[in-house]
Amino acid sequence: MHKTVQNLIDIQKEIKLSLDTLQINKVPKIIAVSKTFGMDKILPLIEHGHLDFGENKVQEAIEKWSDVKLNNKNLKLHLIGGLQTNKVKLAVKLFDFIHSVDSEKLAKKISEEQIKQKKNLKIFIQVNIGDEQQKSGVNKSSVSDLYSYCKTLNLDVAGLMCIPPFEKPSDKFFKEMNMLSKNLNLNELSMGMSSDYLDAIKNAATYVRIGSNIFGQRS
Ligand SMILES: *Cc1c(COP(=O)(O)O)cnc(C)c1O
Repeated sequence: MHKTVQNLIDIQKEIKLSLDTLQINKVPKIIAVSKTFGMDKILPLIEHGHLDFGENKVQEAIEKWSDVKLNNKNLKLHLIGGLQTNKVKLAVKLFDFIHSVDSEKLAKKISEEQIKQKKNLKIFIQVNIGDEQQKSGVNKSSVSDLYSYCKTLNLDVAGLMCIPPFEKPSDKFFKEMNMLSKNLNLNELSMGMSSDYLDAIKNAATYVRIGSNIFGQRS
């Protein structure tokens, strides 16, 4: 068995144990974050039946995935990195999910492009949950307004997404995200990476985004 497949199976087992302990029934989806890795490492996972993959750069994703996606109609591709408005057209064409909507301008552009392309992607609103200067994401206090705006555009908002501050324990930020999500009555919560996905699951994550624990360290 290919190493990436073994890694995925190990993570799934670990998550299952954790869900049993927590008495959570809904099994979170694992987005295999394949950024920087080539198809040699990705294809074994597709052959194993894994469907959800994440990329953070539009151009890299187009080069890697355009053909593979045509041949595997069930694949779901998640854009998890920042999106500039000039790349929205290409992103809407390739991706099934966008996890990084954090402004009205971007939401509007996605909506316009979706109408042109007759598409309806699933959208996550990215929240700057640690109030970090450099980090993308909408401020906590503006989440509700951006969500309402997205609804007026008829965007299919699945839920909220966050990347907590790297140098601090994630648990408290995931708790806050869970509260925000519940307050807005949203169903999905995209949070948790290789270092903190069990904490995310404890706090009701429904999509965890796992890269290095599946594919190995990125160079
Ligand atoms: C790279 C990345 C991940 C995966 O990170 P790992 O630590 O390798 O699991 C998850 N989410 C986002 C937004 C990323 O950019």
